[in-house]
Amino acid sequence: MLAFIYTALPSRVVFGAGAVKKLPAEIDALGAKRVLLISTPGRAQMVGALGINAAGIFDRAVMHTPIEMVQEARALAREVKADCCVVVGGGSTVGFGKAIALDSGLPILAVPTTYSGSEMTTIWGVSEGGAKKTGRDPKVLPKTVIYDPELTLGLPAATSAASGMNAIAHCAEALYAHDGNPIISLMAEEGIRALAASLPRVLANGKEVEARSEALYGAWLAGASIGTTSVALHHKLCHVLGGFGLPHAETHSIVLPHALRFNAEAAPEAMRRISTSINHPDPAVGIWEIAKKLGLPMRLADIGMKREDLERAAKAACAAPYPNPRKVEYDAVLALLAHAYEGRRP
Ligand code: NAD
Repeated sequence: MLAFIYTALPSRVVFGAGAVKKLPAEIDALGAKRVLLISTPGRAQMVGALGINAAGIFDRAVMHTPIEMVQEARALAREVKADCCVVVGGGSTVGFGKAIALDSGLPILAVPTTYSGSEMTTIWGVSEGGAKKTGRDPKVLPKTVIYDPELTLGLPAATSAASGMNAIAHCAEALYAHDGNPIISLMAEEGIRALAASLPRVLANGKEVEARSEALYGAWLAGASIGTTSVALHHKLCHVLGGFGLPHAETHSIVLPHALRFNAEAAPEAMRRISTSINHPDPAVGIWEIAKKLGLPMRLADIGMKREDLERAAKAACAAPYPNPRKVEYDAVLALLAHAYEGRRP
């Protein structure tokens, strides 16, 4: 057993089909009287159906938490004297709650409806002037998270698949994080198992509550894994590629198998655990095959990357690399990106 440091993040998790019915009681338990409800326009109807007597509603959350929209949401929180943010939606919506909490310290109650896992982390991100600033702050960690798989029954197949692969990526990197620990490794391995087992069933029948429950359980474990460990080369590459306008979850899905191949020899124990959890002798190929089976885009070329930008992306990834099991060097990173660009079997 190697030495480790483990910091548990304090959040209350309420999980189960129909769990959203407990939302009023959970708001009371936080002592909140003036709730600001936050969603994207797409989830506004779902939020309306919850029947919460809110002090205010901000239903214009968008991707990438642009500062202009964040300022509007913060102003509304102040105007209605909110004492709690209830966020209902995917990572983009959770991001708005976090941006408000960062500024005001308001508690967040999160009701996630995708597999992003953001609800379990202290990581926030706000876009300003074309760049995304990110950081970690305990203030933005939701106090309570209600996972209700019934709210995910309408999550489209393509979004479910991409968001699920994003969650698998969180688990994979937690397994070889420089600040990993045995508890998180257990959770991350189980997270990959649950997601790999459930996503094909979710795609076959998005209304199957059992499959949706297992996928959401995996997403919880994935969020908790990334919440207390550092990310490595894979997330760095996806962050850089996000700057080229590539979609978040799909980018994760395409890059992950190639990042695993890159790190395979330097992180044998992580690879052994991934192999076990997907029941495949080669984790990189196994993850690549899962993405293919889920019908996800397999080539960066398919999601808007330009070949002439590969070198710039590789340089950016190497300029300020995150700690990674294998040394991050330009030629090897460029080769990784070229393989992901072409969608090669890793
Ligand atoms: P998203 O929140 O942008 O949602 C994707 C789409 O799905 C949206 O159009 C949304 O309206 C729709 N949708 C959400 N739930 C639905 C449901 N149940 N039924 C039907 N449609 C639904 O995407 P995401 O992948 O959840 O989140 C991505 C964002 O989260 C990125 O900006 C990423 O940076 C951030 N993120 C942050 C963290 C963190 O720890 N801070 C972790 C992961 C992701």
